Amino acid sequence: MKITDIKTFPVWIGTRNQMLVKIETDEGIYGWGESGVSGRELAVQGAVQHYREFLLGQDPMQRGRMWQEMYRSQYFEGGRVLTGAISAIDIALYDIVGKKLGVPVYELLGGKQRDWVPTFASGNGKNTEELVAMGQSLWDAGYKAFRLSVDYEAEEDENLYEPREMIAKTAVALNAAREALGPEPVIGIDFHHRLSVAEASSFCNKLRPDTLDFLEEPIRDETPEAYIELRKMTNIPFALGEEFASKWQFLPYIEKGLTNFARIDVCNVGGITEAMKVAGWCEAHYIDLMPHNPLGPICVAATSHMAMAVPNFSWLEIRESPGEDNNFYDPKFFPVQPKIEPGKVTVLDQPGLGIEVDEDALTEPFRFSEPPHLHRNDGSYTNW
Ligand SMILES: [Mg+2]
Repeated sequence: MKITDIKTFPVWIGTRNQMLVKIETDEGIYGWGESGVSGRELAVQGAVQHYREFLLGQDPMQRGRMWQEMYRSQYFEGGRVLTGAISAIDIALYDIVGKKLGVPVYELLGGKQRDWVPTFASGNGKNTEELVAMGQSLWDAGYKAFRLSVDYEAEEDENLYEPREMIAKTAVALNAAREALGPEPVIGIDFHHRLSVAEASSFCNKLRPDTLDFLEEPIRDETPEAYIELRKMTNIPFALGEEFASKWQFLPYIEKGLTNFARIDVCNVGGITEAMKVAGWCEAHYIDLMPHNPLGPICVAATSHMAMAVPNFSWLEIRESPGEDNNFYDPKFFPVQPKIEPGKVTVLDQPGLGIEVDEDALTEPFRFSEPPHLHRNDGSYTNW
């Protein structure tokens, strides 16, 4: 079998772009992948076009060797854009290999370890009352785990983010949510790298000891040493890693005990090939995977097949919460995809990923769009 074409589809679906990749072969078997470098999709498209030049004619069964060639061939190894491209290609290759051998992708990864994949949802509220109600509605819908966040958008300025004000509001709301919901739900929060070490510590100190089950990305990730300092200041479990672009970025976070849940993103880290290596490494350190999964059904399928085949797994992020209508999973574009229900995803047992894309429906072209560019009261820039 030989690769005959690699096509890119940066397209608008629902409320965002999706960066899809299709690999075709001389046997008529094809595979689909998706990249996760949200917001810089055209840079990924360029990287895929570079890789296409030397992947045409290669045997898709040799996906591990091709991973090494893609990662190491340009002298300037790695980086998020390149591993975003590698991820999409690697996922599409797994789809092809599964179809060629007539097995679902999880069979290529060691076989089923579970019958379905547990998921967590996310919910927001403008104030304490709304956040408590959101937590209750997620629990009532069947989610055993969820993240709760207080909206930062103010009426007068939707791009204002003032950390100390948000810490205070969020801590009050989360303490109230735990009191209302009781001890059973798993409750987390994602701070999206918006805090300093001191701010993150202050936030943790404002919570009662039983309030949070995990704290996701309180600070930025470039400096593991900063997390070593924060680790000394709180005992709340950390959930980190959604932007990590290789096993080497995970290395200090796993080996120094800095993350307690691995927020691995199959569409960023280097595809299924790289994700399975990180998964095994996490298993050795008793760390469960809690994958980042904010994209479309191809990301859901690829991540779920990995989740089916690893022992160390907690919950898959899913973007289908009560009241959310984002259309990321619209069957008009993806007529075959995993079955998504509150609190669980079930992969299809057909060969490959169990994904079909209606190419004729991909008519909405890529749109340039930026995430919010936030500022503080004094006008200085801060992370979205
Ligand atoms: Mg996050």
